[in-house]
Amino acid sequence: MRHRTGAGSGDAFRCVGCRLGVPVVAPGTAHRNHCPSCLASRHVDGRVPGDRASPCGGRMVAVSLSTRPDGEWQLVHQCTACGVLKLNRVAGDDNALALVRLAVRPLADRGLGRRALREL
Ligand SMILES: [Zn+2]
Ligand SMILES: [Zn+2]
Repeated sequence: MRHRTGAGSGDAFRCVGCRLGVPVVAPGTAHRNHCPSCLASRHVDGRVPGDRASPCGGRMVAVSLSTRPDGEWQLVHQCTACGVLKLNRVAGDDNALALVRLAVRPLADRGLGRRALREL
């Protein structure tokens, strides 16, 4: 039994992290592939964003932030199933608190910093 809701044309998805119903259309991005609340995503794309070419389907969690030369923020997602890393554009309505938490994570996690120092 499958229940379809609303327009049913694939214009919304259920977040794998927090179960939020997420509309695909978002400000500042052509199509959204991650949750604006908890930033989780699903590993469905292959090499090209939006190609839906990956059979993995694993849960992807935001592990870091990176910036492009033009200053735009990008999320670094890692698949919890296969470990692949992917870069995704930040959407205009992404949870600012979640983004900032991600940005300051290396500062907040003192253990990580100490571990990094030992590696040097
Ligand atoms: Zn979510
Ligand atoms: Zn995967």
